[in-house]
Amino acid sequence: MNNALFIYNTLTKEKTLFEPINHPYVGMYVCGPTVYGDAHLGNARPAVVFDVVYRYLKYLGYKVRYVRNITDVGHLENDSDDGEDKVGKKAKLEKLEPMEVVQLYTDAYHQVMQKLNVLMPSIEPHASAHITEQIQMIEEIIRNGYAYESNGSVYFDVKKYSEHHPYGELSGRIPEELYSGTRELDGQHEKKNSADFALWKKASPEHIMRWPSPWSMGFPGWHLECSAMSAKYLGNTFDIHGGGMDLMFPHHESEIAQSKACHGHAPAKYWMHNNMITINGQKMAKSLGNFITLHQLFTGNNSLLDRAYSPMTVRFFMLQAHYRGTLDFSNDALLSAQKAYKRLMNGLKIIKSLTYPENHIPKDDKLNDEIRNSINDCFNSLNDDFNTAACIAALFNLLKKINAIHSSQIRIESIDPAVFEQMKKSFIDIIENILGLYEEKNTRTEVFINALLDLYREAKILKQYDKVDKIRAIFKAEGLVIKDMKNGIDWAYDEN
Ligand code: ZN
Repeated sequence: MNNALFIYNTLTKEKTLFEPINHPYVGMYVCGPTVYGDAHLGNARPAVVFDVVYRYLKYLGYKVRYVRNITDVGHLENDSDDGEDKVGKKAKLEKLEPMEVVQLYTDAYHQVMQKLNVLMPSIEPHASAHITEQIQMIEEIIRNGYAYESNGSVYFDVKKYSEHHPYGELSGRIPEELYSGTRELDGQHEKKNSADFALWKKASPEHIMRWPSPWSMGFPGWHLECSAMSAKYLGNTFDIHGGGMDLMFPHHESEIAQSKACHGHAPAKYWMHNNMITINGQKMAKSLGNFITLHQLFTGNNSLLDRAYSPMTVRFFMLQAHYRGTLDFSNDALLSAQKAYKRLMNGLKIIKSLTYPENHIPKDDKLNDEIRNSINDCFNSLNDDFNTAACIAALFNLLKKINAIHSSQIRIESIDPAVFEQMKKSFIDIIENILGLYEEKNTRTEVFINALLDLYREAKILKQYDKVDKIRAIFKAEGLVIKDMKNGIDWAYDEN
């Protein structure tokens, strides 16, 4: 198989051959969720996108250490400088310990991620558990002359930094623009320049989550946790840093600046950013009233939803678009994703049941070429910056052949045995191991049990004892027994 993986690097704006720093080891860091509320549609896309990146790198044979953090220090804001204590606020509101809030929403996040079949990262560090590392990093940045203390807070000196390094290299935003910004930032009087961002913030009296530091009782700036934790677990320079496009500025731009100011070089070789999800063409925001949580999506419990959508439908919907393209959520789009997902699952069921027959007939060269080309298209698409959209299109070309075999339009024997095995293996591997899709079985077992019991009752009345025995055997095979009692028929778990 062709292992030449090309990745679009947001930093260099180029698609280049992926070459890990320390082959075959790959270090990957992705900005994880904030945990003071339910995971929503916007959380699902980076999780699914980077899950496929993780899965595919492993499939290619790399030893991947995947770090995805939990932002639980409670200050995540668009302007990171003086973020309100979101975890603390929620804790007060619900009369919980801040760490109870963190646990509650971390567990809830894990549950929905599991439903989406998103693998757990290798390490999932909490920002609140790495305060020491963050303080050490601030001290080093101060020593190197790129940060200053002001009134118990510490700020990164963007102007000083940009004298030596190109601040804005990732996002294209340049400091001059920032200096002329007219936004009134709270605490701005403490800063030398409006572009400076907080590395440490002195806690206001109502800020619950706070830690001692050389400068004040306070909390670290939002950008710092990712710099400190990625360096701790992946080293000062690692392979891939990922996240949503909305994090490019100021979050990732500041991460680059912090790492360069601390270690003298950039943190990551490749930067990858997934595009955003819109809802019926609009940006998703609580203020716009179009906010959908993943739980609502899976239950249909939101006025924007015509029906519930299964986790695999949602996952498939996301993979049908390339990660750098926008993705618009609508009921129609989800419904067509559901249909396509089910077609693919039917194909998966068919191919798993197919075996190569013994008899020999002449091979169909054209057919063999078509199958080989479709398999190559699948992998070439994945190697082209993880283009899952093109990969799925190629899978559907293979599906046509599988369905044709199933309906006897194609005889398996006309396919070369090696090509057939390659098709079977690739189709299953790509769907299950790389795209992470699985067959969602109907879990409404009770409905089927009761229907069978009705048939059992009828068969007894009609004295059709062969049917009675057959149904009993089906139950037994499933670890269940039918109970014939005076007052009727019931079932139980087989205790033998
Ligand atoms: Zn981050």
